Amino acid sequence: MATKRDYYEILEVPRNASKEEIKKAYRKQALKYHPDRNPGDKEAEEKFKEAAEAYEVLSDDEKRARYDRYGHAGVGGANGGFGSEGGMTIEDIFAHFGDIFGGHFGGFGFGSRGSERRTSKGQNLRINVKLTLEEIAKGVEKKIKVNKYIPCDACGGTGSAKGSSPSTCSTCHGSGMVTKITNTFLGQMQTTTTCPTCGGEGKIITSKCSKCYGEGIIKGDEIITLNIPAGVAEGMQMTLSRKGNAARRGGINGDLIVTFSEEKHPDFIRDGNDLLYSLHISFPQAVMGGYVEVPTLEGKVKIKLEPGTQPGKILRLKGKGLPEVNGYGKGDMLVYVNVWVPRNLTRDERKIIEKLAESSSFVPNPEPDEKNIFEKIRGLFS
Ligand SMILES: [Zn+2]
Ligand SMILES: [Zn+2]
Repeated sequence: MATKRDYYEILEVPRNASKEEIKKAYRKQALKYHPDRNPGDKEAEEKFKEAAEAYEVLSDDEKRARYDRYGHAGVGGANGGFGSEGGMTIEDIFAHFGDIFGGHFGGFGFGSRGSERRTSKGQNLRINVKLTLEEIAKGVEKKIKVNKYIPCDACGGTGSAKGSSPSTCSTCHGSGMVTKITNTFLGQMQTTTTCPTCGGEGKIITSKCSKCYGEGIIKGDEIITLNIPAGVAEGMQMTLSRKGNAARRGGINGDLIVTFSEEKHPDFIRDGNDLLYSLHISFPQAVMGGYVEVPTLEGKVKIKLEPGTQPGKILRLKGKGLPEVNGYGKGDMLVYVNVWVPRNLTRDERKIIEKLAESSSFVPNPEPDEKNIFEKIRGLFS
């Protein structure tokens, strides 16, 4: 799929733009590419949607912070947001952001797209996905069965029984709004409210679907494909626009919010994008040096030990950690060297060790930086 453009670039604002500036910039873009002004122009429509997506993220403090930190992946990545399949339609954009155009732009038809009629919105849904470090390292596509509200298959989500169709609400004549005129001592006051008869839908169901009792939604399972980018971490979340609960009678679906948790790995501990691995080498290996095999998430690698390698030595394998979620750079793997001390010796082995004990080379003589190993360890995590 095509790479997404930077949201700040789309709205033509600096990265430190204020909320007001972002709103203004979005209004400008939306007006420029508005479908009523560019009928039949696919490119303008794409630009219109792109601007709405950028605004949806940048106008929300929490989403903006995630975007600043993690890029597109932090706010839905490859398959979230509205950009991709199942993305926001023009109608959704009006339902979401119609108010930004205010009354000033009514002349362009902003008010004419049914924005007065209330559109129901499905509830957001949260799911948690468990990932292994191997999956996190490469990114993974997961098919998840989600139990949620889906459109009723018997009535196609309309709520009306087969063969019947809803009638126009006689109270509001289909507008979904009622205007009340009240006489007060200041004079006549006019207020417009949601129609109480139809709840703002403008229609009344004459014969309810027996499967969903007229709601248009039922509980059911949906298989959802998640394209999880590499480098995600516990606590991050991904929002899939409109993949949450279906709304009553054909409204706008809620969002699906995916959070991640990480499965414990048998070999590695994660520290940010670095991986920590604890290696045990034998006493002769420590003395004489040589090559040892170390597991990584991409298979085994051979590393060289210098003769006289001390326990507590930390070897850094560049780029063998986890990738940054935004795709720039990779963490390292830190190999902490332990020296295995045998617990049981044969009589002959014991004799050899006793002999070695008399040798002056075996008297501890650490270098200054080896004296306080805690300094070094603390340095790893700061
Ligand atoms: Zn139904
Ligand atoms: Zn009504």
